[in-house]
Amino acid sequence: MDNQILMPKGGDDYPTNWNQFSEWFHTEESCLAYTERLRWPQGYVCPRCKNQSDPYRSSRGRLICPACRFQSTTTAGTIFDKTRTPLRVWFAGAWYVTNQKHGANALGLQRVLGLGSYQTAWTMLHRFRQAMVRPGRERLHGLVEVDETYLSITDRYAPPATKKKKKLY
Ligand SMILES: [Zn+2]
Repeated sequence: MDNQILMPKGGDDYPTNWNQFSEWFHTEESCLAYTERLRWPQGYVCPRCKNQSDPYRSSRGRLICPACRFQSTTTAGTIFDKTRTPLRVWFAGAWYVTNQKHGANALGLQRVLGLGSYQTAWTMLHRFRQAMVRPGRERLHGLVEVDETYLSITDRYAPPATKKKKKLY
């Protein structure tokens, strides 16, 4: 296994092709381990008491601080927080969305991931779109070169607005 997956750097270390993608993220555990290494590159730090020793691990992927017993997950506060959709499906969705030159829509995402509901696909796509906007971004300046692309502005059947706002990475 290469170093990118063992010590991934946020913003840099992502699979570069489908073979690598399926090798890195073949199980739910490998996806969880990846997010854990991204979140705590120097090893787990308890979000509550800042203790840095190895956490206990529950069967459902919860990390339990050995000092204060606080339970957390690697996805708390991210776009993957409190979702019933497996991380593997989320990651595959992210791969699909970022590899569609003509833009992705919720129906396409639902089909390609085999999701049971359009609502799930729509929510997923919505969270991806939120995460792809860099907060505090400034206007382009200088010499700007533009490649062709298509952006899907709307989805035909937008479900009712979701209530909770998610914090992004
Ligand atoms: Zn703690």
